[in-house]
Amino acid sequence: MEYNYLIVGAGLFGSVFAHEMTKRGHSCLVIDKRDHIGGNVYCRQQSGITVHEYGPHIFHTDDERIWRYVNQFGSFNSFVNAPIAVYHGDVYNLPFNMNTFCRIWGYITPDEAKNRIRESAKSLGIRDPRNLEEQALSMVGPEVYERLIKGYTEKQWGRPCKELPPSIIRRLPLRFTFDNNYFTSKYQGIPIGGYTGIIQALLDGSDVMLNTDYLQFRHKHPDIAEKTVYTGPIDAYFDYVFGPLEYRSLRFDTREICTDNYQGNAVVNFTSAAIPYTRAIEHKHFEFGKQPTTVVTLEYPVKWEPGMEPYYPVNDEANYVLYSMYKRLARKERNVIFGGRLGSYRYYDMDQVIASALDAVEKDVSAS
Ligand code: FAD
Ligand code: UDP
Repeated sequence: MEYNYLIVGAGLFGSVFAHEMTKRGHSCLVIDKRDHIGGNVYCRQQSGITVHEYGPHIFHTDDERIWRYVNQFGSFNSFVNAPIAVYHGDVYNLPFNMNTFCRIWGYITPDEAKNRIRESAKSLGIRDPRNLEEQALSMVGPEVYERLIKGYTEKQWGRPCKELPPSIIRRLPLRFTFDNNYFTSKYQGIPIGGYTGIIQALLDGSDVMLNTDYLQFRHKHPDIAEKTVYTGPIDAYFDYVFGPLEYRSLRFDTREICTDNYQGNAVVNFTSAAIPYTRAIEHKHFEFGKQPTTVVTLEYPVKWEPGMEPYYPVNDEANYVLYSMYKRLARKERNVIFGGRLGSYRYYDMDQVIASALDAVEKDVSAS
């Protein structure tokens, strides 16, 4: 055995795990099939602008321990996410708040907005929402639903809101103040220069091999490490014996535009079904950039097919049942730890991934 740990995936989970174990004197080999480290938080530089290669990543957490942890590896700025939504040429504030309600109904007091929503929920007769459409209608009423939710959500998930679980929309804050901060978290920011520097610092002391797919590597090097940490898709690990889990994929169309300010905001959501992308990201605004040009990414949701990047797990009943079957197999796998977004088939935010990697380290240390 050359290493104590073979870590599959140089994303946040794998990198935090590697850092903690090298700190404790263990040897780690980290492999990734991509040609760079960082997984989906990977950032690159273009014309002096930090580009979030796999979609906008805003760090936010309520957990002081996690905030202190990431701040050891990079300096965070004071960015606050305040996306706007464009629907048929009109601009609205997100998340749903008094600015949104004022724009839609002309109301200036919270009571007016609350009464309107309460009355429309009453007239629709929805008591116990069974799907995303019913949940959204009872939360914000038909006007907000039609303009800001229906088109965006159906593009994002590729199916009607009536066939989606209510839980997806419950992620979004609803408030009756004029506060455009998308997150309610205690801590928020963007690492200056991007996330790649943080990952580099975490991987210091580990051996790293890129362009290396574990699904082939494992046959040639079955005994390279005492334990394996696997953060790729759990169904792929088991050669899809029960069939593939479902994911949602994305296509990013990134271009440099010859203007110093293209859209005046980091994140602009396009909520009409007539526009095929969900959002436009102007990367320089994450770091308050003053460069003469700008880099903009349009994010297109696409149907996932085997071989494509699996960005979002589809957390519905059928996939939950399938995942439970893979999880049972995973429990029986000796000396393998499954973790991260793909290994646990969970939509994890970055702070949750870091917390779960730290927990996995503690569990492994106390077991050995
Ligand atoms: P990943 O980053 O996916 O890393 C897994 C790695 O494993 C990848 O590099 C992959 O190439 C590698 N791998 C897979 N299979 C193999 C194999 N067979 N062999 C070798 N390597 C393999 N979170 C937030 O907190 N805030 C945000 O604003 C936010 N925005 C997001 C926007 C988008 C579009 C997406 C998709 C996610 C966003 N997230 C956000 C979530 C965040 O990206 C994840 O929490 C985090 O990146 C998960 O880290 P991970 O290590 O689990 O997975
Ligand atoms: N959503 C919406 N309109 C928007 C933004 C989000 O209807 O302008 C819905 C959509 O269903 C999405 C969910 O809210 O899947 C969660 O949004 P969030 O921004 O948290 O998405 P994620 O972080 O999952 O990309």
